[in-house]
Order: sequence, then structure tokens, then C-alpha cells
Amino acid sequence: MYFSTLLATAYAFTAVSGHFMKRQVEAGLIPLLSSNASIYYPMDSGFTVSSERFTELNRPDFQLVVHVASEDDVVATVQFATANNITFLAKSGGHGLSTSLSRVRNAIMIDMRGLNYARYDNATSQVTVGGGITTGEMINATHAVGKEITAGSCPCTGVLGVTMGGGVGRLMGRHGLIIDNLVEMRYVLANGTAITLNNQTDPELWWGVRGAGQNFGIATSATYQVYDQVNNGMHYAVDMEFSMSQLHDALDVINAQADEPLDENLALFLVTVPVGSTGGPVIAVNFVYSGPQADAEGLLQDWLDLNPISFSDRVVSWDSLPWRVQAGLNSELCTPNKYRNSYSLAMDTYNHEGIQRLFDNWERFVESYGANVTMNFIFETFPQQAVVAVDVDSTAYRWRGQSKHFGIFQATYTDGRFSTLVDDWLMEQEKIFNNYTGYDEKHVYYNYGKGTYNTAEDSWGYEGQVQRLIQLKRRVDPEGRFDGFRQLLDYA
Ligand SMILES: Cc1cc2nc3c(=O)[nH]c(=O)nc-3n(C[C@H](O)[C@H](O)[C@H](O)COP(=O)(O)OP(=O)(O)OC[C@H]3O[C@@H](n4cnc5c(N)ncnc54)[C@H](O)[C@@H]3O)c2cc1C
Repeated sequence: MYFSTLLATAYAFTAVSGHFMKRQVEAGLIPLLSSNASIYYPMDSGFTVSSERFTELNRPDFQLVVHVASEDDVVATVQFATANNITFLAKSGGHGLSTSLSRVRNAIMIDMRGLNYARYDNATSQVTVGGGITTGEMINATHAVGKEITAGSCPCTGVLGVTMGGGVGRLMGRHGLIIDNLVEMRYVLANGTAITLNNQTDPELWWGVRGAGQNFGIATSATYQVYDQVNNGMHYAVDMEFSMSQLHDALDVINAQADEPLDENLALFLVTVPVGSTGGPVIAVNFVYSGPQADAEGLLQDWLDLNPISFSDRVVSWDSLPWRVQAGLNSELCTPNKYRNSYSLAMDTYNHEGIQRLFDNWERFVESYGANVTMNFIFETFPQQAVVAVDVDSTAYRWRGQSKHFGIFQATYTDGRFSTLVDDWLMEQEKIFNNYTGYDEKHVYYNYGKGTYNTAEDSWGYEGQVQRLIQLKRRVDPEGRFDGFRQLLDYA
């Protein structure tokens, strides 16, 4: 195990924080960790690396990082932390958006990134991954054996972090949400035991983790069903730009295609770009058909008929797809430690009036603050077939068929002084747009949501699902050890 003796001497018998002592760590935790685990204190470079996050906002605060290398390391750390009443939080991809994370103070980070293996079982067509693997690593591993599964669009997110909320992505028309492919998990509970969790071992917890899984434990590994790749894993990807004056034509096309319903192989992103190829604001549309190019031509023609102001297309393999679309947007989204505010709403349709209002406001914002803040509205339209085929009551993810499109309002900047201005502006847009989603109540994908800003009902439903989650929480985590992402018992 890596351990800095120099720092150990400097800190020995010294309070690391008001909450725990380094000597407690040396005596009570380090002897229990495996030889490949590492401990980092705030002055270590490893601490800085582990602390990287997608957004500087709502940062959790840590006094110690345990970079785990085995399930037993996770168990030992959870047992140590609970015995000493120290807050802890697992970290995988570091892309968590919840405001609740800022309530995590003086804590131990359980850095899961050492658990990034992927083992494919040919007999069952299942892949078992470590609890810290990223989306990009999992895509690479499954692609290497000619398999596919629904995966998030950003390769730097943690697979388990994404899975816990449901997991949406381009292939969900064929394979459902990521949770719909989950076979079982190894899961460490607040009482410090590791269990095999599946529909037989604890059906109620199995229901809850698939849509609210950050609240009950830490997955050290997860097994997913994977599938033969369609078209040998080759996808047809198109990026187009439209002028702002073409907005309503673009909305007509996207609504018409989604109402068909959307072809199970097609995913569409519509994004406002402050500086497009024209040098000014444009609407970018990303069209990915997960199958042969020839099969996509009819669907693409609807867009070509609008005469996009720019067009580029390519056939790409699944593992390179995240990096070769949307003008390299994912390289930006994988760059950590910028300020990023995010709000999200699901919608039933692209409402012309609502989107026009948003985009008018956006153009004014870009004019005033574009030099300092990159403001994007991102709309995701994914196919729904395999998602709605699953019984909505079988998982805690509530919005099957009721989140036809996801709207994400996101700002990126490096000067933290803009954070209040940006957040106020974004919140106002979210409130305006909430009148235009086409749903009577607010529907928010828990993992895209803003933590405490959203109600529990926004996230999990208005028909008793929240009470069911609270009951479950009282049983498996009554002291709220896994409250970092959301404090469920606050809604009791
Ligand atoms: C740029 C970007 C793109 C995104 N794209 C998608 C997408 O395409 N599809 C989609 O569904 N979502 C997407 N999301 C949302 C994403 O699902 C959430 O942000 C998710 O919380 C990220 O998980 P993480 O592991 O990267 O983050 P982290 O901050 O590491 O973790 C988030 C939460 O999950 C918990 N957690 C992490 N690992 C584990 C584990 N092994 N066991 C238990 N709990 C764990 C953490 O403790 C924390 O509470 C995106 C988010 C961003 C910022």
C-alpha cells in the first residue's frame, strides 16, 4: 500500500480535521487495507487527482482519500468511518451534479477508480465491471468483444454513478435503460457488510437501487447483460448546424420524428452553440443512427430538406463515437474543475413558444456575458421502445415514457464570481420552461437534476414512490450514511 511516511510523521497525532485524527487512520484503517490500496492526505498529489470533479460548484469537502483496490478495502473503509462517525462518499467519474454533495464536509472519499476492470463471460453474454469503471472504459471493453449495451453519452462519467439513477443513452431504444440490463451487484451497506444484490436476495432494495441507488450503499461491482453489436458496432454520425431563424423548422422535424415514434436506432441532440461555424449563435443537431448508413437515409433527408448551414457525416465505431461527434464536445466535458451550473427538465414535446422564449433569452445572455460564460441548452431525444417495455413499477426510475426528451440547461466558466448571476438566470429559465414541458407535473431525471432544488417527487414520482424509498432508507441506512447525493429522510 502506498503511504507517505514523511507526511505520516508530519501529521502523526495531529488533528487532520475537527472530525478525525490521522493516528486513527494509521491504527484503525491502514492495517486493514489491501497492499494495492492508497491513502492520500490533502498535501499529496494523489489527493489533488482524486479530487478532480466535473464542476467546482457544490464540491464535497474531504480530509482523506482512500483509493480502494478491492471490495474488502471498501468494506474496511465503511466500517472504519461508521465506527468513528466520519462522513464518507464514494467517487467514480466525479460528474455528479447534485447540490447535496456540498453538504459532505470533512469526509473520507472512497475513490473507486482502482476498481475499473471489465470481465466478459462468453457463456452468459454478461460483463462484470468494477464499481469505479468509467463509461468510456466500459464501452471499450464491450466493443473489444463485439458487444454493446446502453451507455451514457459522456465517456468520463462513472458507470455506477450513471447506473444508480437509471442510465440513459443512445442505445436505449434497443436495450432500455442501463438499469434494465443490470443482472446483479456486489453492494456494501451502511452496516459494513457486502452483499450480492439481485431480485432474489432483496427485491425491495433491488427495486430502489435501480433509480435511487446512491442512497443505500456502494456497488463494488456490477454485472450487466450485453448484446451482439448491430452492424458490427459501426454507427452513422452526422453533425449539422442550423441558423436561429430555422428553429421552428428544426422543431417540426424533431417532433415529427419523435412522434412516429423515434426509430429505435436513432438518437438526436439539439444544442444551442454560442459561436458556430458562422461566427455567431447556431443550433447544432447531432444525428446518430446506430446501424447501417443506408437505413438512416430517409430519416436524414428530413433534416437535409431544411438546408443546414453546415453538414459533416462519418461512419464510426462504437468505441470512438463519444470522441468523434458534436465537434469534440466530450473532450470539453471531460475537462475537470470548471464552474458548471446545470438544471434539467424532461419534456413530452418541443414546444415552439417555450423554446423560442428560451432561445431569445439565451441570445441576449450570450450577447451580454458570452465572453465569460459558455451557456448551452442541450436537448436529448432518445428512442423509447425498450424503456417502455419494462414495467414502470419494477424499478425506482419513474419516468419511463414520461421523459420523451431531456432538456439540460448548462453554463461553463472559469471565474467563480459569475456563479450567482449564472445560477439565478438558469433558474429563471427553468421556471419559465417548466410551463412548456407538456407534462402536468415536473419530471426530472434524478441524475440530471439539481439535488435539493428538485423535490423528491420531481425525481421519483407523485404516487407514493417517495414514501416507499423512505421506508427502504429507514431499513438499510437509518443513520443516513449514504446521504451525499440526496438526503432522502429529509422528505419523511
Ligand atoms: C457531462 C455529463 C454527461 C452526462 N451524460 C449522461 C448520460 O449520457 N446518461 C446518463 O444517464 N447520465 C448522464 N449524466 C448524469 C450522470 O448520470 C450523473 O452525473 C452521475 O451522478 C455521474 O456519476 P459519476 O460516477 O461520474 O459521478 P460521481 O460524482 O463520482 O458520483 C455521483 C454519485 O454517485 C455515487 N457513486 C459513484 N460511484 C458509486 C458506486 N460504485 N456505488 C454507489 N454509489 C456510487 C457517488 O457517491 C455520488 O453520490 C451526465 C452528467 C454529466 C456531467
